[in-house]
Amino acid sequence: QAEAEARERARPAETRDGHRIAIGANVNNPEQVPFALDQGAEGVGLMRTEFLFLERGDTPSEDDQYETYAGMLKALAGRPLIVRTLDIGGDKQVAHLQLPREENPFLGVRGARLLLRRPDLMEPQLRALYRAARDHVPADAPKGKDAPLAIMMPMITSIPEVLKLRAVAERIRAEIGAPEVPLGIMIEVPAAAIQADALARHCDFFSIGTNDLTQYALAIDRQNTELAPEADSLHPAVLRLIHMACEGAARHKRFVGVCGGIAGDPFGACLLAGLGVHELSMTPRDLPGVKARLRGSDLGALKALALRACEQEDAAAVRALDSAGGAA
Ligand code: PEP
Ligand code: MG
Repeated sequence: QAEAEARERARPAETRDGHRIAIGANVNNPEQVPFALDQGAEGVGLMRTEFLFLERGDTPSEDDQYETYAGMLKALAGRPLIVRTLDIGGDKQVAHLQLPREENPFLGVRGARLLLRRPDLMEPQLRALYRAARDHVPADAPKGKDAPLAIMMPMITSIPEVLKLRAVAERIRAEIGAPEVPLGIMIEVPAAAIQADALARHCDFFSIGTNDLTQYALAIDRQNTELAPEADSLHPAVLRLIHMACEGAARHKRFVGVCGGIAGDPFGACLLAGLGVHELSMTPRDLPGVKARLRGSDLGALKALALRACEQEDAAAVRALDSAGGAA
């Protein structure tokens, strides 16, 4: 019985009409990898590195970070790992960095904005990542979306930000003599989704952060419990932004993942696949349900369903399309 279930979890998320959706886990340290793999993860679609800073009272050194990234690569044994550079600010405040207090931290210096202002934080992190790539990614490893290591930048709002971040990353890569590592961006600000076609030209892949994209599209603080029922990532406006991001990526043949919470919702996962998302990354316990639901679905039908969802008037109407959780 247990063995049959484990085999089921390990099966890929291939739809009935033969399209495979890549399935990753959101994992922050090497100790969490075995459970994620057991639940059926094919890799790690989001490693939130701010936890390295949040879990301790000081800033981890370049060597500390190197050990963690190398540990992740070893634990994953060649499976894809997407590491997100520090996303501090907003809901992720790190006391020991003593950053200036802001009136509206979600609209302030967070993510990429902080990285660009604080080379003392960004550069050791990139050095640690490229050292890990140099030492632990074999020369004959797959490139592109199957690469064992990819780097992703959070909270991107504009093309100049991407160009500046890329330039720093490329300089550090050359200094270290590391192989090229795919460089992607998070799409979690409406401006980035709207301008996705232009952004896609300047990066290797997208990962859509639906938690923040929902917060910024609907103007609902993601931590506001009173408004939580309205902060639904299946709001048609959010779905339309995701669709725009996918179309922009497709124009430049870029890979698109989703690493926000809705990727772990079986019906949400179906809509995302229908909108053109190639990879879903989620909290490990959500993996089996999402994979099973996608395996029972037909991508052709999901595309039609996703377009219908975008035309609905509100999130409740979108959710009503999930007739008993089985129509697709
Ligand atoms: C998101 O915003 O959806 C996301 C995955 O990033 P985080 O939740 O870490 O802000
Ligand atoms: Mg986010």
